[in-house]
Amino acid sequence: MVIIIKKGAEKAQVEHLKELLRSRNIDPQETKGALQTIIGCIGDVAHLDPGLIEALDVVESVQRIQEPYKAANRKFHPEDSVLECGGARLGGGNFSVIAGPCSVESEEQIVSIAKSVKAAGATMLRGGAFKPRTSPYAFQGLGKAGLDMLSSAKRETGLPIVTELMDFRDIELFNDVDVIQIGARNMQNFNLLKEVGAYTKKPILLKRGMSATLQELLMSAEYIMASGNPNVILCERGIRTFETALRNTLDLGVVTLLHRLSHLPVVIDPSHATGHAFMVDSMAVGATAVGADGLIIEVHNDPAHARCDGAQSQTPEMFAATMERVKKVREAVCSR
Ligand code: PEP
Ligand code: MN
Repeated sequence: MVIIIKKGAEKAQVEHLKELLRSRNIDPQETKGALQTIIGCIGDVAHLDPGLIEALDVVESVQRIQEPYKAANRKFHPEDSVLECGGARLGGGNFSVIAGPCSVESEEQIVSIAKSVKAAGATMLRGGAFKPRTSPYAFQGLGKAGLDMLSSAKRETGLPIVTELMDFRDIELFNDVDVIQIGARNMQNFNLLKEVGAYTKKPILLKRGMSATLQELLMSAEYIMASGNPNVILCERGIRTFETALRNTLDLGVVTLLHRLSHLPVVIDPSHATGHAFMVDSMAVGATAVGADGLIIEVHNDPAHARCDGAQSQTPEMFAATMERVKKVREAVCSR
């Protein structure tokens, strides 16, 4: 349920309404837009009589939200959310590119890649320390040592860091991490979503599960938001279809649709979506043209010897060329 407040309402009246909602076990979330102030109601609103609320002096109207996702819903928060990601901004016209290797392999590697992606215009550094691998025999990431290496790269370059959390028991190691990634394989790990949402307000980069519908993605965002963290970034990284020529199928239509359904920023991952380094450039450019709020791109200094996802990793030179094109596309076609 969304409550639209009358123009010129007094602060004390609005506070009074919020108190009333709290007394009914509803968490009132106020959004002050340029045109109107609205209060989104989080919790079980079934026992709340909309007629009663509408009768209050301070209330303009009451709108029921039919969709099962509430906090993530654009109706709940009509303006784009703008997320602060350790110095970088994302959403509402703020475009950000996250780049770096699939996995952190050594301090030298991550610092050198961080320097090159920063020089090319990346605003955040990615690198996995805890890796969700299909095979238990494959490289699982450097764990805590990998996080320490990411911190060194952050100190050297100033780039905020983005890295995946797979197990909530590791959360205390993530103090220096700016954006916590929840990977595609964990998109519906509801306990992880709840724990992370309750523990931190740091932005969470939530990757779409490989067979997840958009509604399922939004419901997973809702889990994080309902637990107390409104700062969720939605990430499309390709879905599994009948097509086997590509690692996944990039669903670019989601950018427009998610922007209609939700106020959360939408980031595209052209690396996992295609699985081929030679396709990353065109898909990154396409994603930018359709209005994505950002990109997350795998870049490796020596893709042939990468310990993970080398085939889809751009070299720093390829990445710099992509960034040039992305910049031109933004200037040419993006109003957001
Ligand atoms: C990754 O970003 O390296 C990764 C494992 O992504 P996904 O969860 O989208 O497969
Ligand atoms: Mn990867």
